[in-house]
Amino acid sequence: MKIDKVELFGIRLPLHEPFIVSYDKYDDMPAILVKIELENGVVGWGEAVPDQHVTGETWHSALQVLEHELAPLLSDLSPFQIELIHQKMNKKILGNPSAKAAIDCALYDLMGKITEQPVYQLIGGKTHDFLVMPQVISIKSPDEMASDARRMVREGFRNLKIKVGTDMETDIERIRAVRNAIPPEVKLRVDANQGWDRTSAITVIDQTKDCLVEWYEQPVLADDILSLQEIRKVSPAKIMIDEGIHSTHDLLNVIKTRSADMVNIKLMKAGGIYPSLAIANMAEAAGLPCQVGSMVESAVGTMAGAHLAISRDIIQSNELVGPFMISKDIGKVSFEGDVLKFPELPGLGVVVDESLVKELSEVHIIIS
Ligand SMILES: [Mg+2]
Repeated sequence: MKIDKVELFGIRLPLHEPFIVSYDKYDDMPAILVKIELENGVVGWGEAVPDQHVTGETWHSALQVLEHELAPLLSDLSPFQIELIHQKMNKKILGNPSAKAAIDCALYDLMGKITEQPVYQLIGGKTHDFLVMPQVISIKSPDEMASDARRMVREGFRNLKIKVGTDMETDIERIRAVRNAIPPEVKLRVDANQGWDRTSAITVIDQTKDCLVEWYEQPVLADDILSLQEIRKVSPAKIMIDEGIHSTHDLLNVIKTRSADMVNIKLMKAGGIYPSLAIANMAEAAGLPCQVGSMVESAVGTMAGAHLAISRDIIQSNELVGPFMISKDIGKVSFEGDVLKFPELPGLGVVVDESLVKELSEVHIIIS
C-alpha cells in the first residue's frame, strides 16, 4: 500500500461570473489537482487553490513547490502515515499551506478508498445530520447585491454572506440594501476581507447594528490582532477571524488576546484536513465556534471541507460555495435545496472526470 506515483494538473476553473472581493477580481479560478497513485493502482485526489493574498502562494509557485519539494517526499510511504508526512512537509518548507492541503486531501481520499469508508467516518463520523450551504455575493453596487440576494432567497437559500470592504459609506449601503431585500429569518453575514481600518470597522458595525448581521468577518488586516480585539469589545455582533488565522499558533494568539468570537478554518490556509482538526480541537477548548470556509474550490476541495465540517461538533457553519460559482466542475457535488448531499462513496466521494481535468489543464507533471 505504498505511494508509487504523483501527478499534478494545473487547471483553470471557469466561473459563472467574476468573483470580486476587496483585494482582487477573479475571472476564473486557478487550481492544482493532485492525483496520488498507490502501487496497487488505487488513486486519491486532492486540490490546491492558492491565494497569493492569503497564503502567499501563486498558482505557479504552488506547482513548483509540489513538484520539487513536496511530492518527492511521498515515495514509498503509506497514505496512513499522515502525521509523518505532515512532519516531513513542514520540515521541508515553511508555509505553502495550499500545496500541502492538496497532498493531505489526496491521502484522506486514499485512506477512505482503502478502508471503503467515506472520509468523515475516519475523523469522527457524522456529528451533524446535514450541512446547510450558504450563498456568497460578490462586491457590486448595493442595488445589484440586493437583487442577487432576492434571487438566492427565492432559490431557497437560508444563509447569505456578502462581500464588502471598499469604502465605509457604500459598504453601509450594501449591508442595508441586502438586509431590506430579504426576510428577517434569512441569516446575513458580512465579510470585509481586511478592507477596513479600525475606525471604519467600528463605524460600519455601529451604523448597521439594526441589520441583524450574524457576524462580521475579518474587518481589518490579517495581522492586526489588537484592532480586532478593540472592534470585538464594542461590536454588538460576533466577530469572525479568517485571514488572521492559518495555524494553531495563530489561534493560540487569538485565544490569548480574546480577539475573535468565531474562527474560519480553510483547508487551504491550514494545510489540509489533518492540521484543520487540530485547529478545531483547540478552538473547541477555548469555546470558539468554527466555520469551514473555502477558496473557490472544485468538487474535490469542496467535499474535503464537507467531510471535515460534518464530523466536528464545534464546526457550526460552512462556506463551501465553489460548486455554485464554477461553471464546469471536474466532479459532481449534489444538493437538495441548500443542503449538501453526501454520496455514500468511499474517500472524498468525488468521481473525478479525468478527461475534463485534462481539457482544463495548462500544465501536467508526472512524478514517480
Ligand atoms: Mg473570509
